[in-house]
Amino acid sequence: MSGKVYLVGAGPGDPGLLTLKGARVLASCDALVYDWLANPELLDLAPESAVRVYVGKKGGDHTMSQERINELLCDLAADGKTVVRLKGGDPFVFGRGGEEASALAAKGLAFEVVPGVTSAIAAPAYAGIPVTDRRATTEVAFVTGHEDPGKPESTIKWGALAQIGTVVFLMGVKNLPNICAKLIEAGRDPATPAACVRWGSTPQQETVTGTLADLPQRAAQAGLKPPAITIVGQVAALRQELAWFEKLPLFGKRILVTRARSQASRLSEGLAALGAKIIEVPTISFLPPEDPEPLETAVAMLEDFHWVIFTSPNGVDAFFTALGEAGKDARALAGCKLAAIGPATAATLLQRGLIAEVTARTFQAEGLIEALEAKGITGQRVLIPRAAQAREVLPETIASWGNLVQVVPAYRTVRPPESTMLLANALSQGLDAITFTASSTVTNLMEMLDQNGRDLLAQQSREGGLTVAAIGPITADTAKGYGLEVKVQPEKFTIEALTEALSAYYAS
Ligand code: SAH
Repeated sequence: MSGKVYLVGAGPGDPGLLTLKGARVLASCDALVYDWLANPELLDLAPESAVRVYVGKKGGDHTMSQERINELLCDLAADGKTVVRLKGGDPFVFGRGGEEASALAAKGLAFEVVPGVTSAIAAPAYAGIPVTDRRATTEVAFVTGHEDPGKPESTIKWGALAQIGTVVFLMGVKNLPNICAKLIEAGRDPATPAACVRWGSTPQQETVTGTLADLPQRAAQAGLKPPAITIVGQVAALRQELAWFEKLPLFGKRILVTRARSQASRLSEGLAALGAKIIEVPTISFLPPEDPEPLETAVAMLEDFHWVIFTSPNGVDAFFTALGEAGKDARALAGCKLAAIGPATAATLLQRGLIAEVTARTFQAEGLIEALEAKGITGQRVLIPRAAQAREVLPETIASWGNLVQVVPAYRTVRPPESTMLLANALSQGLDAITFTASSTVTNLMEMLDQNGRDLLAQQSREGGLTVAAIGPITADTAKGYGLEVKVQPEKFTIEALTEALSAYYAS
């Protein structure tokens, strides 16, 4: 049985602009064939087992010829594979998707087209330029800028284009001077507003504005390179009022997120929504404790405990994994009172149908101690399942009130080996900010660097280039211990507050 090829539009760059259908077929493909303009983040949506083939096409650099790509798609489909052919923007807008579909059709192989958000519309939109607007134009044309208008065999109807309200050129950076000259020659007013938008909808977006007469010179001055969209028409002037993306508070900032991959998404998504370019270098991953026995034993005798205290969402997860392995469920905690170090931990308990009797408001051990003290706990048996390496202040203080405290390692944190390489890459490309969400993220990050690297980072944090953001005072102290200057520290120790504090820092 032969397979099927989905020609999927990846959208212009912002991964959020992939369609729901595109995401669905990506999630269940056997093979993924993609090119330069498709955002690499989207590749993660395909199953890990899917074969990934990069076919290139950066400017003139064709890693694989179109004929070879067509053959590859046919071979994969004939082999019974479900193939996603992921193409930048929309597959049928200057994407040669039609040729790929024809190659499949000629062999009787099945295909579907999943249209995408084309850069021809989205890049202008992210620059604050509607391609049509009743105030400015009633028509729009999409034109390839790839054809050198100087060539005698050019098939572009310049006379007609000069009459059209909005003209959008793709692939036009190299030929920009010729394109503008040709339109003026064909009768278009040289004072017509015009703009180029490079890497539209991504944190690297760059916009150059001018008139038909001076845009080529301005683009050259700005050193504008492909890929860019060129818009000619009165609509380009609306950008003055409508530019929105480039005004987001974290627009274009390169921000390092050091959280564990399993926990990073909320922080990363929040920062990206404010325009930041996120680089994830997980400094921590969670593993079961080296010796699982203490946790197993504690789980087996839960009825002996009056209190169970959770100090992280991950501690809750690890505890419930052990509970499940013992063939038990949340009812095993029926006789216990529960405490949570902060709202995130309380929320993780609530997901399992459990309400914490005590939740600290300051999100750290001291806050929890205060909240528990208010309850006047004494003469109780207290279980604390938590990280193998953690601060002693919580168990020691609770024990000092005359309680029997048992600390069991529920998980341990390790430094993911692949992160050292990721960090080196991130640093070589330059960073605007680093976020730390726990002391261990600081320690592990700094331990990935040699002394030179640590000194350099500390120096950059002091001399302005690099903004260090820490979630709370303990994390900040650890950072300061490494010589880092902490410029951003929210009042509340939450991910949302950290995101807001960074945004406020850059806004001021
Ligand atoms: N099928 C694609 C176009 C492919 S042709 C689409 O529908 O968007 C390649 C051209 O697309 C580039 O030369 C550039 O003009 C444009 N392009 C693609 N992504 C872009 C982006 N994020 N910003 C600006 N232009 C982009």
